[in-house]
Amino acid sequence: MTYIDELIENNRAYADGLEPSHLDVRPSRQLAIVTCMDARIDVFAVLGLGNGEAHIMRNAGGVITDDMIRSLAISQRKLGTREIMLIHHTQCGMQTLTDDGFRAELQEATGVAPSFAIESFSDVEADVRQSILRVRRSEFIPERDVVRGFVYDVETHRLHEVTV
Ligand SMILES: [Zn+2]
Repeated sequence: MTYIDELIENNRAYADGLEPSHLDVRPSRQLAIVTCMDARIDVFAVLGLGNGEAHIMRNAGGVITDDMIRSLAISQRKLGTREIMLIHHTQCGMQTLTDDGFRAELQEATGVAPSFAIESFSDVEADVRQSILRVRRSEFIPERDVVRGFVYDVETHRLHEVTV
């Protein structure tokens, strides 16, 4: 039995205890949040968000990659979101590797160099600023008036805003 089997059981119990849901596909708070996949960030709890209220987009680092731009373009143009909140965090795994080192590791292990950028960073606040700028400079994203960036402290649970 894998841990996934346990989660499937959890889902049965969860669904059994709930009435059918009829939430709109468009987030009710017209908000998109980009953050890291880090297992310590419970996005809903940290922000007091509810189901159906916001898009939550996650990757390693919460980095604004082309694929994040793709998701944000769909979020705004097709699903009505208008504000963007970017959340990096302290003790991020992306601070423990380097682009060149991980690229070499992948190439050595597989014989193939990855076509994607690794996007590691050492200065978390600098990476938040870069992420804000990448969003603000993308014309694929029509609503760029409210793009705010934060660092979440995984120990104190507090958000700290970073401005460009
Ligand atoms: Zn992280």
